[in-house]
Amino acid sequence: EQQTLSIIKPDAVRKNLIGAIESRFEQAGLKIVALKMIQLSRAQAEGFYAEHQGKPFFEGLVDFMTSGPVCVQVLSGDNAITRNRELMGATNPEEAAPGTIRADYAESVSINAAHGSDSPESAAREIAYFFEPGEIF
Ligand code: ATP
Ligand code: MG
Repeated sequence: EQQTLSIIKPDAVRKNLIGAIESRFEQAGLKIVALKMIQLSRAQAEGFYAEHQGKPFFEGLVDFMTSGPVCVQVLSGDNAITRNRELMGATNPEEAAPGTIRADYAESVSINAAHGSDSPESAAREIAYFFEPGEIF
């Protein structure tokens, strides 16, 4: 089974959407095999999004991701990386397919409810960023 890292971002946690979003993963047949709620430090957010360092939206992204608690989970299943990205929809909610998490819950391209790993390499890095092997079931 493939694993991917998912984050329910601070906007969605503030809007009481943890259960609604976790439910979409479960209903799609993805298993939640690790789960924690945390508030990211600036250093943690900067390291997590290191690939975007230097881009014009980077500081705002770090401000947003540290603005409140997030829910971090590892999802497991066949093709989990792509299937989670499909459930989330496009980064910009105006371009996200109807019925996706971002179409339904995101406010804007920067305040967009969820994160999902975009490749096997990023999934491995991002899962190890938040979880010890013994915390994944
Ligand atoms: P994520 O990595 O959070 O799952 P993504 O892979 O769909 O999102 P990325 O290109 O990796 O998109 O961008 C990471 C995050 O940076 C986006 O989710 C969004 O919050 C923010 N972001 C990306 N592009 C922009 C932009 N043009 N303006 C503002 N914020 C942006
Ligand atoms: Mg990304």
